[in-house]
Amino acid sequence: MKYYVGIDFGGTGIKIGIIDESGKILIKDSFDTDPHKRGEEIVQHIAECTQKVMDDSGLPQEQILGVGIGSPGLLNPETGQLKVVVNVPNLNDVFITKILSDILGKPAFLDNDVNAMSLGEFYYGAGKGMKNVIAMTLGTGVGGGIILNGELYRGSTFTAGELGHMSIDRDGKSCPCGNSGCLERYIGRDGIIERFMIARNKGFDTNIEKYLDKGKITPKAIVQAAEAGDELSVKVLEETGEILGSALATLVNALNPEAVIIGGGIANAGDLILEPARKTMLRLAYSIPAKVVRVLKAELGNDAGLVGSASLVVANLS
Ligand SMILES: [Zn+2]
Repeated sequence: MKYYVGIDFGGTGIKIGIIDESGKILIKDSFDTDPHKRGEEIVQHIAECTQKVMDDSGLPQEQILGVGIGSPGLLNPETGQLKVVVNVPNLNDVFITKILSDILGKPAFLDNDVNAMSLGEFYYGAGKGMKNVIAMTLGTGVGGGIILNGELYRGSTFTAGELGHMSIDRDGKSCPCGNSGCLERYIGRDGIIERFMIARNKGFDTNIEKYLDKGKITPKAIVQAAEAGDELSVKVLEETGEILGSALATLVNALNPEAVIIGGGIANAGDLILEPARKTMLRLAYSIPAKVVRVLKAELGNDAGLVGSASLVVANLS
């Protein structure tokens, strides 16, 4: 049996787990990191935590083939160097895979968290058995991962897959990235809340009050209200699906994938978003690729980061 370690690095907290060849998580644990320590010390601590999980697993150490790290921010997957780690600037420029590999005696691989999650869905989730898959995460922002011919497509500067910054309206809302009308500005967290507020201020009835999150409107509250039949929430999610669908039409025309896999918190709305997305995509994309592509909900849920990070080992060693 072969086993793979995944490190889901989320800034100050890390989750570490080990999966088997079927993608099943055999053990997982969470740890804190101290962002004020020197970068090398932080990585040393991550290595110690990783060794602890490997020891606790009781698995034969020689069958644990490597370690994968998924991290937010800018990085270089080829050299294993973190470039800009937003919440932990002390890690900027640190060659994390080299340090981990030296301490643990196993190969280590780094990629951004969305690429890692995309690989997880590709190997073990909704994309199992496919060759050409696009994964999208809808959360605070909108991220993406592109897998072509069975391999993650990183592009020439490792920045491929920034699907949230695809413009759907060149005169649209301005985005911190410098573009206008970025998809993320409409179906990212704030975009969804904003569309809800605008509609509510126009006088549409809603019973969202029952679902507020500490008094606030959040996408989660909108999904819960929609599931309970709140018409305004249903309408906002439907519109979210339609906007997503028009972006999917562009992607389907450009890349002709077998599936687009939608993950992240908002994907929990399931068909409330995915059905209008499918319909819009079918209407707008070329018919030959549109009839083939499946728009699927991600399957790995809360474990997507962990399984995805471990999948980096699978992708790099196979
Ligand atoms: Zn943008």
